[in-house]
Amino acid sequence: METLKKIIKKPLIVVVIAFVIAVFVIGKKIKYYAANPAGEKDCPPLFPNFVGDPSKQNRIEIDVSQYELPWTQKGGFINDASCLNKTSVHGVVSIQNVDDIKNALIFAKDENLKVSIAGVKHSMGGHAFYKNALILDMTKFNQMTLNEESKILNVKSGATWHDIQNFLHPKFAVKAMQSTDIFTIGGSISVNAHGMDHHAGAIARTIRSMRVMLSDGSIKNISRA
Ligand SMILES: Cc1cc2nc3c(=O)[nH]c(=O)nc-3n(C[C@H](O)[C@H](O)[C@H](O)COP(=O)(O)OP(=O)(O)OC[C@H]3O[C@@H](n4cnc5c(N)ncnc54)[C@H](O)[C@@H]3O)c2cc1C
Repeated sequence: METLKKIIKKPLIVVVIAFVIAVFVIGKKIKYYAANPAGEKDCPPLFPNFVGDPSKQNRIEIDVSQYELPWTQKGGFINDASCLNKTSVHGVVSIQNVDDIKNALIFAKDENLKVSIAGVKHSMGGHAFYKNALILDMTKFNQMTLNEESKILNVKSGATWHDIQNFLHPKFAVKAMQSTDIFTIGGSISVNAHGMDHHAGAIARTIRSMRVMLSDGSIKNISRA
């Protein structure tokens, strides 16, 4: 009888401890997610008072001279526009040209890192970054040229619709774009975004061709043909 009691007691203690830990962890999470949205946030607002260059708001400036890649952040955290997905990362590289992307991919392969690509991080499910990954910040990869005759714009994927509108104005306007101008072209293409004008349809219909870099750094020109 005595031994039977002992056997029953031990698992009971383990269950009670597990229960207490579970209540503590779940309770902490509930408190975190139930917090007043006006309360303190763990990342700066993207557009504080709508002053200055919004693309610079989430940057942590570091001494980049010792690195080959154009780092803007080594280690630390990243978050999306909602501030609900704080994630630790290996670092953030500010992409300015095609070689930066290629070098970043080579670096990631050498260091056995995952790579994720970020536009303005408005997809609010952590789509634009990954735990301990190398983050490619595309927002400075935003140059463009226009062929006025064919009315075809050649644009790099980090440009926002706002950049494009500024570039085209006052001579031309975009036929199909996302409903607000804050998103990047890369982010919009990734979801085949639609805009306000349903006659224009989703943006994929307006894309003539794309240059896509594969993980080995090679570039493919892709089009409907
Ligand atoms: C307020 C609000 C309004 C919205 N309105 C609309 C709307 O009207 N129509 C609509 O269709 N959607 C809408 N969305 C959804 C929106 O389309 C997506 O959130 C969009 O992808 C965001 O673009 P981003 O630049 O923030 O991309 P991010 O969130 O930074 O990235 C989105 C995805 O694209 C990938 N990506 C980004 N850049 C590149 C690149 N250069 N190369 C390869 N992959 C890349 C990222 O890895 C990630 O997977 C809205 C979202 C919000 C928050």
